[in-house]
Amino acid sequence: MSVYNRELLDHFSNPRHAGRLPDADALGVYGDPSCGDQMWLYLKIEGERIVRVGFEVFGCPAAVATASAFCELVTGRTLDEGLEIGEGDVLDALAGLPDEKIHCSLLAVMAYREAMTDYILGGSAAQAARARAAAAEETTPK
Ligand SMILES: [Zn+2]
Repeated sequence: MSVYNRELLDHFSNPRHAGRLPDADALGVYGDPSCGDQMWLYLKIEGERIVRVGFEVFGCPAAVATASAFCELVTGRTLDEGLEIGEGDVLDALAGLPDEKIHCSLLAVMAYREAMTDYILGGSAAQAARARAAAAEETTPK
């Protein structure tokens, strides 16, 4: 019997919005050193609205599932509405987490705040990620 419920395992097995967003306007990176989880959150922003999101996670099943759930919650919201999504909303979307995994739900919430900082400062983190990806593509043998 898994410590995770069916809702969480569904997000873990079929993560929504997984993957890098090549044309992102903002990138937020956040890591929780206490359990080794780290998340990259990519946002495509039009006007004041988040039109597309993508994420990459190194982490435990709870980290992957909470990232997936957060991305579902934030898609289509305005930038300010995104800031209102808290750990509790992520936990609700997953129908709860085991106690020792509750801190993992903070990962996406904090990555979103980092992405907002990047956006306000002009999206340089997103641009750097794009440049790195382009460079990696050039050096990949065809
Ligand atoms: Zn974790």
